[in-house]
Amino acid sequence: MVMARKYYVCRKCKRFTHERECPNCKIKDLSASWKGLAIINDPEGSEIAQVLQIKTGGSYALFVD
Ligand SMILES: [Zn+2]
Repeated sequence: MVMARKYYVCRKCKRFTHERECPNCKIKDLSASWKGLAIINDPEGSEIAQVLQIKTGGSYALFVD
């Protein structure tokens, strides 16, 4: 999966978005500098989701500057 730089990541919840605003947090604190990708389908049963404190399924970055 190729992720272009036009993807932004929310600094608060680390979710990927094409928009200028995080769909989770409704904030505009987004970063274009990120590393790693975690696709969370089942937040309840995912250790990664629990570590990252993700409660909604979707695509998330592991590290955000
Ligand atoms: Zn967010």
